[in-house]
Amino acid sequence: MISEELRELYQELILEHSKKPRNFRALEPASHTAEGFNPLCGDKIKLYLEVVGDEIKDIGFQGSGCAISKASASMMTTSVKGKTTSEANTLFNEFHKMLAGSSEPYDEGKLGKLSVFSGVSEFPVRVKCATLAWHTLRAGLESDGKVVSTES
Ligand code: ZN
Repeated sequence: MISEELRELYQELILEHSKKPRNFRALEPASHTAEGFNPLCGDKIKLYLEVVGDEIKDIGFQGSGCAISKASASMMTTSVKGKTTSEANTLFNEFHKMLAGSSEPYDEGKLGKLSVFSGVSEFPVRVKCATLAWHTLRAGLESDGKVVSTES
């Protein structure tokens, strides 16, 4: 149960990240790139990764879309920067569990600030906006230059 006060705080943080997205830039060069598209809302993202060994040394994104997709991409980049690819995959799984309405409980401690998106699970159409950046991240880490769509 999320209190009214916490909900407002969450909304403020999402709004703040959507207005001033972090890591909003193309990386040149990038070791991995991927593009994501959410046709239901019109969100588009291009993700740039600089992976050295097993570490995500740097990450950037560009794109356009609604406030939730932008804020989610911004917070995704700050969460995985400096992490290993397997740590990033763990975050993806927890984030997905939180939003997919899974019966399995998600690990709030692992998600940290990303928990601000928990309220989005009440709005199924918005879940795709929030998970787009994460699906694009996984596509980028798995193979280079792939285009992912939330509708495929
Ligand atoms: Zn959207």
